[in-house]
Formats: sequence, structure tokens, C-alpha cells
Amino acid sequence: MNEKLCPCKSNSLYKDCCEKYHSGEKNAKNAKILMRSRFSAYALGLVDYIIKTTHPQNPLFKKDIKDIKNEILSFSKNTIFKDLEILDFEEEENHAFVTFVAFLESIDNENISFMEISHFEKVNGLWLYKDGQFFEGIKEDIF
Ligand SMILES: [Zn+2]
Repeated sequence: MNEKLCPCKSNSLYKDCCEKYHSGEKNAKNAKILMRSRFSAYALGLVDYIIKTTHPQNPLFKKDIKDIKNEILSFSKNTIFKDLEILDFEEEENHAFVTFVAFLESIDNENISFMEISHFEKVNGLWLYKDGQFFEGIKEDIF
């Protein structure tokens, strides 16, 4: 595991990239780093990290925590995380926006890529994923 490339597609080794955030050794110093670490956490099925870095006001938390965990796990298991492209990053004092394209494929080879403008909020010094605006049906040949 440790000598593998990071699933956030940074071309760095996992141990030099997102592992320190996933292990809790370090906190992501900005929303762009947090976004990458959440992408790799989805790829690795690190459900607790996803939950930990999600804002309490995110609509996700309207559901039962067990259901949330099962949903994230099944998404992780049934998705091939092909690539990540960050298109834009804007940061204000306590709010940040990251625009990215997640190139994803379902296990039955359906293109389920999407573009998202993620909104992050800094709460007690920690960046958290608050909500996002999705644009589905992104085809790889557009980029
Ligand atoms: Zn990474």
C-alpha cells in the first residue's frame, strides 16, 4: 500500500500525499488539499474520513449514520476512480470553492463522471465539505 501512487491522481506516492490526512496525522491546510484527500478516501473506501470531513449541515446528515456509511461504502466498491482534474480553486477567509471533474466508471463500465463545484467552510480551524453543485454526464472528450 505504502509504495503505491496516491488514488487522488497527484502522481505522488500515497505515503507522501493523502495518507497523513487519512491517518489524522495532519489536517488539510486548504480546501483543495482536502478535496483531493476526500477523492482518494472515496477511492479507498475510508468512510470515516469522508464523514469526519463533511460539514454537519450537509444534507447527507439528514439520513441515519448507518445508511450514510453503507451508501459511501457501496459507492466506493462499485466505482472505478479513473482520474481527477481540478479546474478552479477560490479561497476566502472561511469559505472556499473547488471546481473539479471526477472521471469515474461504474463496475459495469458506465461513464459516471461528473463536474462539481464544491463548497467548503472552515469551522474551528478545519476545512469541511459543506455542499456542492453537480453537473452530470461529463464526457471525457470534452476535456
Ligand atoms: Zn493524494
